[in-house]
Amino acid sequence: MSEPMVSEAKNLTIREVRVILTAPARSRLIVVKVETSEPGLYGLGCATFTQRPLAVKAAVDDYLKPFLVGKDPQRIEDIWQTSWVNSYWRNGPVLNNAISGVDMALWDIKGKLAGMPLFQLLGGKCREAAAVYRHADGADEHEVEDNVRRYMDEGLHHIRCQMGGYGGRNPISRRPEGALPGAYFDPVAYAQSVPRLFEHLRKRIGYGVELLHDIHERLQPIDAVRLAKDVEPYRLFFLEDPLPPEQPEWFRMIRQQSATPIAMGELFNHPLEWIPLVKERLIDFIRVHISQIGGITPAKKMAAMCELFGVRTAWHGPGDVSPVGHAANLHLDLSSPNFGVQEWSGFPDPLPEVFPGCPEVRQGYMYPNDRPGLGIDIDEAQAAKYPCPPGPPDWTLTRTPDGTSVRP
Ligand code: MG
Repeated sequence: MSEPMVSEAKNLTIREVRVILTAPARSRLIVVKVETSEPGLYGLGCATFTQRPLAVKAAVDDYLKPFLVGKDPQRIEDIWQTSWVNSYWRNGPVLNNAISGVDMALWDIKGKLAGMPLFQLLGGKCREAAAVYRHADGADEHEVEDNVRRYMDEGLHHIRCQMGGYGGRNPISRRPEGALPGAYFDPVAYAQSVPRLFEHLRKRIGYGVELLHDIHERLQPIDAVRLAKDVEPYRLFFLEDPLPPEQPEWFRMIRQQSATPIAMGELFNHPLEWIPLVKERLIDFIRVHISQIGGITPAKKMAAMCELFGVRTAWHGPGDVSPVGHAANLHLDLSSPNFGVQEWSGFPDPLPEVFPGCPEVRQGYMYPNDRPGLGIDIDEAQAAKYPCPPGPPDWTLTRTPDGTSVRP
């Protein structure tokens, strides 16, 4: 008989909680490092709220760190629950991202203690790798087509297609005098351009590849209903964020009028935002930004709930998720039976130098490494070479032709 396994590491405590801000590939990334009383044993978590990094840093430094130092890092669920209610007024992007930074780091530590990659702790592999989708953009349908073909040549089977970025880029000639600065777009011209784009792509490329599109909440609800109908013949893999999170009731209208699969959720914070949509089968894919809902602990519950209702996962995976967050996405992708697809924006240089152990993508599939925990590290000296630029973003200052501010 071999020795019985140790049920827990005795006297292990959280010694330090630190926030690392870095912007190696432009996006401001926020990583939390939780160090333990065991020399060399630490975990990393993604807390990236790229538009408000200093607010997240303050929430960790001033409130979570004093709350957590001295506690047992093995008690992930209890730490999540108590961190969430410790502020009494809970929820929201700043506090959820701060908690996520700690939560992912604790899962990383648990994997290291167990000597297993995180997907093993979450139930083991349901598949060897996670299919990813990438973004093909272009000024017109021919340029989009070229970029779709380029990704197909790289082995991708899922490709998101946008023409001119979110909301399109159509000339605006009817601004009123004195119109304020902003990122102007024409929602009507945009909505008309999308079916034309997919008609072109399906005619030229056929139906052997999965195509996706992101509305990015840029339309009036009834126009989103119409667009979901208009693109139905082109068999999208999904239509993403057709409505802002403030308009959940309109999903029923989309559902009643088309069979275009719907993906939703990168702006969600709270279970009450997704439970009704999942329970009523009004969406097909849940695609939250995992750090925005509080980390792996709530995400694994969300994935399990979605499984029971036939909803698949498609976690948010743009450039403003750190490679640590991408690794967390991947471990959930591998271990969730109802995984759908993983958004991925590439790991451009110098990200792999700053984050040794980035998951690898080959022929459209993302693979984990076999290191314990999340399997990813951060080189803090490298990270320090890329300080976060100051200032709020301007792409979120979105306006329609008459100058009205709308959801970005
Ligand atoms: Mg999106």
